Amino acid sequence: MDCMEAQLKMQAVLDNELDEKEIPAVMTHMEGCYPCRQEYIEFLRLQRRLSGASPKEPPKEWFEQLEKQKFRKGFRRLGFFFFIGSYLLLLGYFLFQFFTDGTEALAVRILSGGILAGAAILIIITLSDRLKESRDDKYKGVMK
Ligand SMILES: [Zn+2]
Repeated sequence: MDCMEAQLKMQAVLDNELDEKEIPAVMTHMEGCYPCRQEYIEFLRLQRRLSGASPKEPPKEWFEQLEKQKFRKGFRRLGFFFFIGSYLLLLGYFLFQFFTDGTEALAVRILSGGILAGAAILIIITLSDRLKESRDDKYKGVMK
């Protein structure tokens, strides 16, 4: 659904003229589209001014929930990068100690290197998945 369609249907929702089955699609578009959400809020205000009360207004929690989701997502990303960042630094530190003090046998060092390389590959894959995920994020750009 594009913005023009969404905004036409959103007016129909407010006028109680849209098929119930179509309402979720309009709501879904608005959840991912800041301009349409603002437009909807404007429509609501206008309608309230014209008619007093609006029967189709979503609960205030609906809008608050959207904001919370955005915060939670941001914090989750922050936590993830703190975790991975610290982990990598610590790993680098131990790696340096381990391979430079020379007390371990060569085979142990080689095998440990293999384990660490495997872990690094897994981390890189996870990170690139995360990056891709955030690039496909439909909320991206919402706060502009
Ligand atoms: Zn839109």
